[in-house]
Amino acid sequence: MNQGRRRGAQLLAVMTACAALSAAALIAFFTPPATFSLLYPPSNPHVREGRFGVPVCNGAQCRLCPYECFLPEGARGRCRVRMNYGGKINTLVYSQPAAVHLDPIEKKPVYHMYPGSLIYSLAAPGCNLSCRACQNWQISQIYPEQSAAIVSVPAAIEMKTASDGKVYGEVRTAEVDRLPPSEVVRYALATRSRAVAYTYSEPTVFYEYMYDTAVLARRSGLKNVMVSAGYINPEPLAELLPLMDVVKIDLKGFSDKFYRRYTGARLEPVLRTLRELKAKGAMFEVVNLVVPGVNDSARDLEALSGWVKDNLGTSTPLFFSRFNPDYLLSDLPPTPVETLTLARNTAMRKGLKFVYVGNVPGHEGENTYCPKCGRVLVRRYGYAVLEDRLTPTGGRCPWDGTRIPGIW
Ligand code: SF4
Repeated sequence: MNQGRRRGAQLLAVMTACAALSAAALIAFFTPPATFSLLYPPSNPHVREGRFGVPVCNGAQCRLCPYECFLPEGARGRCRVRMNYGGKINTLVYSQPAAVHLDPIEKKPVYHMYPGSLIYSLAAPGCNLSCRACQNWQISQIYPEQSAAIVSVPAAIEMKTASDGKVYGEVRTAEVDRLPPSEVVRYALATRSRAVAYTYSEPTVFYEYMYDTAVLARRSGLKNVMVSAGYINPEPLAELLPLMDVVKIDLKGFSDKFYRRYTGARLEPVLRTLRELKAKGAMFEVVNLVVPGVNDSARDLEALSGWVKDNLGTSTPLFFSRFNPDYLLSDLPPTPVETLTLARNTAMRKGLKFVYVGNVPGHEGENTYCPKCGRVLVRRYGYAVLEDRLTPTGGRCPWDGTRIPGIW
């Protein structure tokens, strides 16, 4: 009898524990972002007052990007990294690195600035888009709390000579839990980077961190490169542009239906950003990730090239990049190379002078050609630069003197 009671009590205890755990799991799963705000007292080093917030009735509105989230006290925006705290919009990711690498500039991809150089590449968590084909979803589609507490970052580079006489760089790393703008610049210089890139996730949503870093980088003689989806409002863009040497815009497709279904955003604000870049004389390049069966119709690709030509000019560098199955579209195949070749040919037929194919090492579309004589000016293989005829001439074709737009 006693044994029976004991078993019954044990069973009851197990059931109670299970119920409590299930309840906790459910609460954790459905907890609205606002609850996370309790984890963010003002002493948290990653919290800073954000810009472009305006007080509105019973809350604040963030006007950094076209979503213009209305946030009641304690709530977060769609990007997960901006929050109404004390009636003001705060950024939650100031100095919070999510991924930091020393990349060849070709990896951004940026082809019209310092070919073959190193670029110190920095990301904080979060993104305002929710692309189903995101190639960096592990850092873009997360809350800051889910980001690694300690991140390994490139801190210095030591040049060495191998036994065959070849010189190579050995990168030293540092483990950090925060990376203030001054440290980004210090490490960028110590790794012989020529520029800092705000990249991988979406720099728009870590605007303040990017802005302050870009100011210091510029003062130290480094260039700044923003790699973005272009989903930003005109005012913040206008304030940022004087600090950016190159802006890389990912024009993800060319229909609003595609944008809504596959990114959660709209097409028009991205086109507006591109028109603004052109109007303000900024240097920029455009990349389109071609996803098979999703945004690869001949009509869309032709419309995209035509729009770029008519609105941004024939000298705009335009990339068609190969999609590799990832995230929510991992069941799709990689983009056939023929599709990318076709897209490139279409764009060149329209009159665009610098059309590239990305993520296909060995493709002729990796090279920069002189639009006048057709000779190769920068020969690439993947991220490697095999031949560079532009840097020694300051950006002119050595055969006919044609000026190639860029920073050389
Ligand atoms: S940056 Fe974030 S909080 Fe601000 S409007 Fe865009 S999604 Fe909303």
